[in-house]
Amino acid sequence: MTAAYDSQNIFAKILRGEAPCVKLYEDEAAFAFMDIMPRGPGHLLVIPKTPARNILDIEAEALAAMMPAVKKLAVAAKAGLGADGVTVAQFSEPASGQVVYHLHFHVIPCFDGVTLKPPGGPIAPAAELEPIAAKIRAALTNP
Ligand code: 5GP
Repeated sequence: MTAAYDSQNIFAKILRGEAPCVKLYEDEAAFAFMDIMPRGPGHLLVIPKTPARNILDIEAEALAAMMPAVKKLAVAAKAGLGADGVTVAQFSEPASGQVVYHLHFHVIPCFDGVTLKPPGGPIAPAAELEPIAAKIRAALTNP
């Protein structure tokens, strides 16, 4: 059985504005921001506004409602950074590598011949993430 949702997880705090993030986008169902330990330039996360631990417990309707944002951010990240492709990944429960227990989709721009860094660090300061985020935001506005 899947564990209960913990409303004190860091992404819930970011959603409530109680913790900082480099924000990219939000709509009624989804919120997107830069990953603090990027596996490559432009690594971002898209989360649902509804409390869900991962893909195993989210209501299908809430999942469907957030997926347009995943698509939108994948297109903008690829275009904004001139990437050659994009990885979209989602991990559910510790066995899969999940470490933050609010559902999130990783969107990671990919460049020919460049391998993604392993997860888990180092932490990128906001000043480093902000100029990359600006390019993604610009591509969202001017697709
Ligand atoms: P997962 O749970 O799928 O393994 O990945 C969690 C992701 O959240 C990691 O890529 C990690 O770098 C990112 N992350 C962890 N804590 C924070 C945080 O406080 N802020 C942001 N923006 N990202 C975080």
